[in-house]
Amino acid sequence: MKTPDVILRGENNGEGMVVHYETAKGTDIFGLGIPNTYIDTDWDLGPTWCCLIIGQTTTLIDTGRLGNVEVFGSLLKSIGKEFQDIDRVVITHSHEDHDGNLAEIVSAANAELWAHSIYRQMISYHPHIKDGAKHPELPGSCRLCNMPAEFNRSCLPYQRKRSLLNIDFDIEDDQSLPDDGLGFVFTPGHTPDSICVLLEGEVIFTGDTLLPDITPHPSLAHAFEVNRRILPTGYRQKNVVYGLMSYIRSLNKITHLPQPLRATFPAHRLFYDGRFNIIHSPVDRAREIIQFHIDRCRDILNIIDNKLVDMEDIALQYFPRSLLRGMGKAMALNEVMAHIEIMEECGDVCLTGEKRDVAQGTGSCNFLTTMGTYLR
Ligand SMILES: [Zn+2]
Repeated sequence: MKTPDVILRGENNGEGMVVHYETAKGTDIFGLGIPNTYIDTDWDLGPTWCCLIIGQTTTLIDTGRLGNVEVFGSLLKSIGKEFQDIDRVVITHSHEDHDGNLAEIVSAANAELWAHSIYRQMISYHPHIKDGAKHPELPGSCRLCNMPAEFNRSCLPYQRKRSLLNIDFDIEDDQSLPDDGLGFVFTPGHTPDSICVLLEGEVIFTGDTLLPDITPHPSLAHAFEVNRRILPTGYRQKNVVYGLMSYIRSLNKITHLPQPLRATFPAHRLFYDGRFNIIHSPVDRAREIIQFHIDRCRDILNIIDNKLVDMEDIALQYFPRSLLRGMGKAMALNEVMAHIEIMEECGDVCLTGEKRDVAQGTGSCNFLTTMGTYLR
């Protein structure tokens, strides 16, 4: 991928930055770095890159973290556009750093809203379905939220507005719309409703599914039991949308997309620490991330060895202290658990304890073969 042109320089981590890329067919793409700061932790994603595709129809991919409508408007202005110029908003997944300003932008733009069919269930409330949810009173996407109460409270008005949105187009699993040059790839795992967007067979917008530098937090396979009854009926039989294994399968799917995809726009870290992080090959990057998770499983299994170790100890031994501060601890535990779930499924780890939070190795490493098949 050629390095995008810088239209507006912004901060050193990409916040407030605007970049431009032109496809072989002459379609303009603008990437807007919308601020995305998590307080009190060193897990730093950098801004959310929201992308505007200026074609016959103007499409916006993602709307960034909540509370940034004004910043969004001023970045639009820097490229001579206004909210009203946006015809359609496509959301890559139901996280507040991607659809945070959605209600405001869709209404200011009078734009259509497109998202995967699971998204509708994620933004809706299902209070009568408890099924072990930590927060049955919150929308589908937040029923298992581990964030502190203060963070949860700040999301409430956004969640309410989001739940009232009308979704104009349900994206199906893998769909292409030749007239618009757009295609969609269903890539669940980070969230159950994650998608990547393809443009003109040349560009892939990967949301959080494929990032340079970092890997997104996988959801837990356990979430399937909690959320099974809120999923659309076609996804209730068998878990294909939650957990690290779903994510690995999605990465594998990316490795099999028609090539060459010459440009990749990730939703984070496109520009960071004063430099671009260009993904030159989405196939290579997807394989690299699969390998990363295989290695992480191996590291975690080495920590467990054949002892009884609880999740917190594993997180303490695996992650540096600075990542375990504030809400970082819940993120670290989630990360450990996502890997242990795969190894439990493969028979390499047994979980005991009332909360199933104590792990013991069984002596096997079947995960190597199971996960390794996705590198093929
Ligand atoms: Zn994100």
